[in-house]
Amino acid sequence: MRSARLLGKDFTNLEKITMKKIKKYTFGMGDRFAHQGEAQLQAILNAKAEGIDVYPTWNKSFREHSIVGSKPQGLRDEADAAVKVLGWEEDYYVDADHIGLKTVDDFIPGSNFYTLDVADFVGAESTSEAIDGFLDFVKDYFGELRIEGISEPLNLTEAKARAAAGKFLKAISEAKAIYNYIAEQREPDTFVTEVSVDETDQPQTPEDLFFILAMIAKEKLPAQTIAPKFTGRFNKGVDYVGDLVQFEKEFEEDLCVIQYAIKELGLPEGLKLSVHSGSDKFSIYPIINKLIKKYDTGLHVKTAGTTWLEEVIGLAESGGEGLEIAKEIYAGALENFDALTAPYATVIDIDKSKLPTVEEVNSWGSEKFVETLRHDLSSSCYNLHFRQLIHVGFKIAAKMGNRFTDALIENKAIVAKNVTQNLFERHMIPILK
Ligand SMILES: [Zn+2]
Repeated sequence: MRSARLLGKDFTNLEKITMKKIKKYTFGMGDRFAHQGEAQLQAILNAKAEGIDVYPTWNKSFREHSIVGSKPQGLRDEADAAVKVLGWEEDYYVDADHIGLKTVDDFIPGSNFYTLDVADFVGAESTSEAIDGFLDFVKDYFGELRIEGISEPLNLTEAKARAAAGKFLKAISEAKAIYNYIAEQREPDTFVTEVSVDETDQPQTPEDLFFILAMIAKEKLPAQTIAPKFTGRFNKGVDYVGDLVQFEKEFEEDLCVIQYAIKELGLPEGLKLSVHSGSDKFSIYPIINKLIKKYDTGLHVKTAGTTWLEEVIGLAESGGEGLEIAKEIYAGALENFDALTAPYATVIDIDKSKLPTVEEVNSWGSEKFVETLRHDLSSSCYNLHFRQLIHVGFKIAAKMGNRFTDALIENKAIVAKNVTQNLFERHMIPILK
């Protein structure tokens, strides 16, 4: 059983590095067409009224900006406008989501939260010098490592450390390079740093997570949130698919590894897990809720497409031109099925045979369209294949240009009601209350 810090002279307390301290519970909300900032913030206000101390984060990735043709500054403007209108006076974050050295420039002035995406560097080769340095850094942990909360000790070996280094060392040094690049251009105490390794092929085990956190500590990278790839499928906009018992075990172990790493490796006090593709994962929310309360830890949840889906639901519900637009989005998405689904191949599972035809959908009224799309598992109309296809179909709406955004403005109240309710009732309450 180890109790004292083992890193001795190498030990560096990252808490001493200046950074903007992240709040315990933060909720990420993506808004592709930049019209739902107030409706999203209203969900946070509703949560506050329920006693949930949660803080808003608006996130948008380079890919999303490219597809809808928006600029990072637009997200900052949207967030600032929403907090002004609703009188929000506490912290809020604007997240440059999944950025790298090649894409970060435009995000630097307007963001105060950077999700460093180093997935492209996972598996890239490091120098033998760097690998040896890492092995030396973690060698005192080899053997059985007991971590509070985890029933079986981790069994760390040089071979495992070497394998982890082969996979992640280059990626974490790249993350540090991105961090340095940002920190050269703005004060380190003005922003939050997240490290994401969620967009990789394999989930990370708690042992992998320990090694990744050790790499972060060794690089002196003041990460406050970390997004691993969890076991199971996190398909876009639909429920979790996987073994819930296994998920619970790994999520709990991840939380324990992080708590251990904070104390042992001197990582920032508030370091917490970030759950990406976090929207609509209804079956794991009670597990997450139970465990973050059990260990009294923070959490960041990142959502995006779920708000876009509520926009389509709101338009469909409004009838008339709104419903017409919703139907055209479906028809366009079906027609461009391959092109739209290809970039999302690893995060959607659509059975084409379960999709209604365009003719069928065109014969539907508002109610039928809404019930087919809305993520209400108790509804016999709900169709997760239909929902996933609309999820990736935002490019079709983007091509409609003003016609789509004018409809959002025209039907603001009904769209906002859906956006707010979805985030508040189906997400924040079950995850955080
Ligand atoms: Zn992600």
